[in-house]
Amino acid sequence: MVSKNPKTNVLTKQMNDLTLDRNVGKSIQTSDFYINRSEKDRINFARLEKGLLLFIYLYETAKSTLASELTLWDHRLCFYMIKDGTCTKTSDQCHHIHQTTYRQSNLCPFWYINKTCKFNSKCKNSHQFEEVSKYHRYLRTETEVNVYKLIRFIRNFAGHYIESVITDQNDQQNLYKDIIISMVHIVHFLSLKQPDSIEHLNLFLEAATINQLIPKEDLLIELDKPYDIPSIFFDLSMNFNTYWYQNNTNKQCIDFNQLSSEFITFFNDIFTGYYEGRLKSRGSKAPWREHSKKT
Ligand SMILES: [Zn+2]
Ligand SMILES: [Zn+2]
Repeated sequence: MVSKNPKTNVLTKQMNDLTLDRNVGKSIQTSDFYINRSEKDRINFARLEKGLLLFIYLYETAKSTLASELTLWDHRLCFYMIKDGTCTKTSDQCHHIHQTTYRQSNLCPFWYINKTCKFNSKCKNSHQFEEVSKYHRYLRTETEVNVYKLIRFIRNFAGHYIESVITDQNDQQNLYKDIIISMVHIVHFLSLKQPDSIEHLNLFLEAATINQLIPKEDLLIELDKPYDIPSIFFDLSMNFNTYWYQNNTNKQCIDFNQLSSEFITFFNDIFTGYYEGRLKSRGSKAPWREHSKKT
């Protein structure tokens, strides 16, 4: 918005700069979580396994509810079903999914089908999903979709990772760190927890792995900032048989603070189910129970 008052313009510009600066300064990378910690403490794959088992459970349990909502975001739904609620082809003839109640009559076919439209911002149709909150319970924003895709990636990593493919030792160490820090964020934001505590991280992930990170007080502050994740983690077509990971390639920023309470509560229940079914019988104590007794 451009105001006729020059003073307001300067002020608006300053405010915009401030907002931009704050966003750039806030984003944090994997290496920031290991700053000042001994570099000779190498991470071996076994250190990841406790977390990977959890993520297989998270994804498999969430899938039955979230998979149908993901089809819209993956552009796998039939365009004509979204636009008109009807398609000239039968569901076995059409290459796209028909089972949906999602409707948006102004959706741009070029943007939706080809992911590109020559009219750009001048297009009379819409280049975004506008009705999501009316039809979806959990995957209503880009952030929620990305967090769910990240869970899917870690589950796929658990099942398909081949250690010998990533031959460079530095790349391998950085990959393990990227996986660990991604898991730490997801556990931190989606499991029940006690304020000012990292007990939930030690419960669901390997305590020795958490000990290699920056100290608790710093960790809690850094976890609250938007975090840069390798873009390859969101790419479903990536191939675990190729040299697929290199350090410092494209990153995608996620602000976990933008998750809705519906999304968080949905996963809270899955984490509690995992604790009740797998960890409690081995003598682990849930930090959030002790907390709820006190209050
Ligand atoms: Zn169709
Ligand atoms: Zn368009």
